[in-house]
Amino acid sequence: MFKGILISKSGSEQSVGFAQLDESDLPEGDVLVDVDWSTLNYKDALAITGKAPIVKKYPMVPGIDFAGTVAQSENASYKPGDRVISTGWGIGEKRWGGFAQKARVEGGGLVPLPADLDMRQAMGIGTAGLTAMLCVMKLESLGLTPESGEILVTGASGGVGSFATLLLARRGFQVAAATGRNGEESYLRRLGASRIVDRSELAIKGPLGSETWAGAIDVVGSEVLASVLSRICYGGVVACCGLAGGMDLPATVAPFILRGVTLAGVDSVMCDRVTRMLAWRRLARDLDLGLLDQVAQEIAFSEVIEKSPHMLAGELRGRVVFSIP
Ligand code: NDP
Repeated sequence: MFKGILISKSGSEQSVGFAQLDESDLPEGDVLVDVDWSTLNYKDALAITGKAPIVKKYPMVPGIDFAGTVAQSENASYKPGDRVISTGWGIGEKRWGGFAQKARVEGGGLVPLPADLDMRQAMGIGTAGLTAMLCVMKLESLGLTPESGEILVTGASGGVGSFATLLLARRGFQVAAATGRNGEESYLRRLGASRIVDRSELAIKGPLGSETWAGAIDVVGSEVLASVLSRICYGGVVACCGLAGGMDLPATVAPFILRGVTLAGVDSVMCDRVTRMLAWRRLARDLDLGLLDQVAQEIAFSEVIEKSPHMLAGELRGRVVFSIP
């Protein structure tokens, strides 16, 4: 038996609580992992509160990310004792996830923990940091360099935005960090932002505005993304990965056909293993691990359920990590 958070559904009513689970309840998979650390993502908060249809099958153990130690393996890439990271790949949505002492997964969804990181640091990074790294790699692969000009990051004080700010600044980019929160300027400057943009400045409507940023990483979508696109410089690139402001995109084609702007999508969930391993290696190499402590706050496993609505209300800054005792 082992302990975990379980989301159940009876009729249209969802309930969530801690439960004693049996190893035989775990889904099929070729690697059994003893989970050591995990992290609360926005998507987990949506799953736990039932505010969006994240959970595809009930009962479900939530937790889209975890780090742990391989206990049993039928996968040639892993052996007992290996330290691994799991992000995305449908866990915590379609198959049981990381908010439990044990998880059984397909080895294809795991990556080895980079030697330079411990598990707490890896979960401090988690899907948010991985997604930010994939966005940076996307901008670079489409030709942006620090010489191209300033890059805008939206939702900068959130999980993905904090890492995007930090990683871009470490690569030598000038970063404009857009936030709707008062009082986060010194935090964002510590991460490396050279300029703070008030969220209200991204409410400008119209097909084309003044050419302001060489590129952007956007976690917000909707009107904010439309406004950002209208102000990207000729030939610029926007990496789009989130919908914190909405799923719609009330934009025109003007930035694409008159300024040659590229809108590039980024997905961390089903991203192939080779790209994910490359991103994790770069995260271990590029991140200032001292700054991780500024981004990641630690809570107790027992607090995960009660903290979830606060995450959705935008009351938690940066990343939230916890050990699973
Ligand atoms: P957080 O809640 O940590 O951060 C989101 C930030 O967006 C907030 O902190 C806030 O930043 C800003 N924001 C929230 N609501 C609005 C709004 N209505 N208008 C403008 N800005 C707003 O979430 P994450 O960083 O973990 O995730 C961000 C988005 O990225 C989510 O939509 C998530 O689902 C998505 N995501 C996508 C992934 C992928 O693979 N494509 C992977 C991970 C996340 P501030 O207070 O600074 O303004």
